Amino acid sequence: MPDAVFSALPTTVFEEMSGLARALGAINLGQGFPDDPGPEALRRKAAEAVLSGYNQYPPMAGLPELRQAVARHYGRAQGLDLDPMTEVTVTSGATEALAAAFLALIEPGDEVIVFQPVYDAYLPLIRRAGGVPRLVTLNPPDWRFTRALLEAAITPRTRFVVLNNPVNPTGLVLPEDDLALLAEICVAHDLTAICDEVWEQVVFTPAAHRPLIAFPGMRERCVKIGSAGKMFGLTGWKVGFLCAAPALSRVLARAHQFLTFTTPPNLQAAVAFGLDEPGDWFEAMPRTLAASQTRLAEALRREGFAVLPSQGTYFLNVDLAASGVAMSDREFALLAVREAGVAAIPVSALYERDPATTILRLCFAKADATLDEGAARLARARDLALRR
Ligand code: PMP
Ligand code: GLN
Repeated sequence: MPDAVFSALPTTVFEEMSGLARALGAINLGQGFPDDPGPEALRRKAAEAVLSGYNQYPPMAGLPELRQAVARHYGRAQGLDLDPMTEVTVTSGATEALAAAFLALIEPGDEVIVFQPVYDAYLPLIRRAGGVPRLVTLNPPDWRFTRALLEAAITPRTRFVVLNNPVNPTGLVLPEDDLALLAEICVAHDLTAICDEVWEQVVFTPAAHRPLIAFPGMRERCVKIGSAGKMFGLTGWKVGFLCAAPALSRVLARAHQFLTFTTPPNLQAAVAFGLDEPGDWFEAMPRTLAASQTRLAEALRREGFAVLPSQGTYFLNVDLAASGVAMSDREFALLAVREAGVAAIPVSALYERDPATTILRLCFAKADATLDEGAARLARARDLALRR
């Protein structure tokens, strides 16, 4: 029943776990956000923009200076050639960009291929737009899809595939071969790809992000979504980008104009500044995060946890079963936040069916002391679990 899509939903696991962490005073390694305030130069720029102008409605598709900066950035970082005026729309975060793409493009009954574990917003929004999700289940430890898995999900009604890469929650950065396979299948079956690439700048050497839109045949059939929140570690800013060929962009803008119409202009101005004058931010930020990831992974391994590899995002995962814990991820996460003072995300919450039930996602975008204490508290939770 379409009208049960939202009323039947629980509160998203990110809010649930952050709410518990706040109520219980726990360390929060759950929801993905850095514990620092973000780059000072951008915050100053935003403050100046609030004080010196930029407080009335900007153009619906975004400040021209930001659209130009986005096109230039993707030219430099990913070799893309986007026209700022006909191919870039500024949205209120990637979440709005996703909603706009689903509402604008999906016709009732269209089938949409979605990989699970799945970012929590996709399925409710796709269903509300009238789409029928076709789930492709990915499993630890490698979380890869295959030609057989993709082809089994395709029917004559399939029109879209939603790809998140780099992947939240798995920390995978899809290799070139997998992207080439997906592009080939999109072209062969006339599918449009909606690509959530919010983590594109949070990738650790030697992994490298390749946008699906750059693969053969994808330039006209890809919607590329980005987020300044993730690029600059300012997750509350909610400045997103929708990039697509003009025919798609025109339709996307129709949905955006009635969702939020515009996005705070002062933040747009600051993001434009950050993209045009990033200094060494795009090298330093992933380097710092990679060091944090290593720190947390090593602390957890010393405590006996089985840590899965992560090539990007703010997240690493531990396999509880391989760490000797017999509890499900959700039971362990509740025990950890209530009795050991540390919040995490049970990855089973990001499956609609047949979940992996032993994987716990941890956010490492935190100060060293927080990571060290978080690992110690997770070890305490493991000791408690072993005694149950
Ligand atoms: N997609 C993915 C995969 C995400 O991880 C997030 C947030 N972390 C979003 C979308 C939402 O981005 P925004 O905050 O820009 O709406
Ligand atoms: N994307 C963030 C995460 O994965 C959460 C964003 C949200 O709470 N909606 O933790």
